[in-house]
Amino acid sequence: MEPEVRIIARPQIDYEEVAAYLAEVGGESWLERLDRGELDDAQNLAEFAGRICYRSWEPGLNPNVRRVRTDQDAYLRNILASAHGSVLEHVNFTFVLHGVSRVVTHELVRHRAGTAVSQESLRFVRLDDLPFWFPDWAQEDAELMERATALLEQMEAFQHWMAERFHLDDQGVPFSEKKAKTSFMRRFAPEGVATGLVWTANVRTLRHVIESRTASGAEEEIRLLFGKVADLLAKEAPALFGDYVVEDGAWTPAWRKV
Ligand SMILES: Cc1cc2nc3c(=O)[nH]c(=O)nc-3n(C[C@H](O)[C@H](O)[C@H](O)COP(=O)(O)OP(=O)(O)OC[C@H]3O[C@@H](n4cnc5c(N)ncnc54)[C@H](O)[C@@H]3O)c2cc1C
Repeated sequence: MEPEVRIIARPQIDYEEVAAYLAEVGGESWLERLDRGELDDAQNLAEFAGRICYRSWEPGLNPNVRRVRTDQDAYLRNILASAHGSVLEHVNFTFVLHGVSRVVTHELVRHRAGTAVSQESLRFVRLDDLPFWFPDWAQEDAELMERATALLEQMEAFQHWMAERFHLDDQGVPFSEKKAKTSFMRRFAPEGVATGLVWTANVRTLRHVIESRTASGAEEEIRLLFGKVADLLAKEAPALFGDYVVEDGAWTPAWRKV
């Protein structure tokens, strides 16, 4: 199976509360400037977080600020260029990753800063079949596919045999026993077994992970996956992900480690 990714949650601004706040500090014109066409909450949240730092909703609110950038693209480009990346930490996206191997999940969880992870537990969830991704080059090798498929079928059969051997489907088997045996059984699953997780990351983290995990030296499946993540985000928030140059699947940003 092919690794898949979906965005299942994204920022949502409460514009009434923002307006109430801006009325108190005298920055209503910022909101009026935004209110043209479709609102991009991810970008607006990053801009809001940036503007509070210098009270730069409009000129004059901070006597030190005489001019403000009124174009959001230019404003956010400057955030990236000046490495003011902490404001991007407010903007989080949640993804469900489906059909990704434990090879991928093991590498992904190494990214700790700015992430949250909920991974399918193979201690609780008993493996029935062993879904598996084969890259195109592998699929073109008939003998490799024949041998690999036979091996996977044998491993699946062994999973079923163990479930019977341990009487896991008998009436009254305590869950603790099922859990212990399921955990033993997963040891005989390949690292390539496809599984799932929910992964949340903020935009600062996403920019770093997209770069490092689509780089030409990165692992094949995680490159494929993060190419998809980057494609989705470039549509979601073009001003926050529009500075990448994509070459042979590698996403290289104009501004690194913001
Ligand atoms: C191509 C490739 C090959 C790899 N090969 C190996 C390997 O052979 N063996 C292996 O063990 N790992 C390997 N890794 C994993 C790698 O070492 C990192 O653990 C992983 O990429 C997470 O990235 P990160 O360290 O940037 O952490 P993230 O959690 O993504 O952190 C982002 C940034 O925040 C800062 N940061 C985060 N935590 C700390 C901290 N505790 N202290 C100070 N600063 C911090 C750093 O600047 C860091 O780059 C590989 C990664 C890649 C991309």
